[in-house]
Amino acid sequence: MNQKIESYHLDEEHHWVADLVCGHKQHVRHHPPLISRPWVLTEDGRNNRIGTELNCKRCDEVGLAVAEAVRRACFEAAARAYEDAGLRGLCQEGRWDVALDAVRSLDLLPLVRSSLTPQESGS
Ligand SMILES: [Zn+2]
Repeated sequence: MNQKIESYHLDEEHHWVADLVCGHKQHVRHHPPLISRPWVLTEDGRNNRIGTELNCKRCDEVGLAVAEAVRRACFEAAARAYEDAGLRGLCQEGRWDVALDAVRSLDLLPLVRSSLTPQESGS
């Protein structure tokens, strides 16, 4: 996901890091020939890039984590409701309606909050 550069700072090893509007950070190194960013070496060069966009992989990861959590919860809610409706003797169409209602009424906010909460790494 592209995010605009808001400012810069130096890390503890004196490498330039872009501060993105999303709150994430991204190194903007100049290491030719692998990475060519000569503009990062001067203050004018950095200032001229404020407002331009970088691809923020962290935002992509966060978005994917939320999407995966929602997909998993929708699938589980639909499957559970479909099974329950079958046990209650509903016809195929009725089971399908109950499953779709379960997806529609899913409370998404707790899913979003839990998938945005950093997990303990266990290390
Ligand atoms: Zn980001």
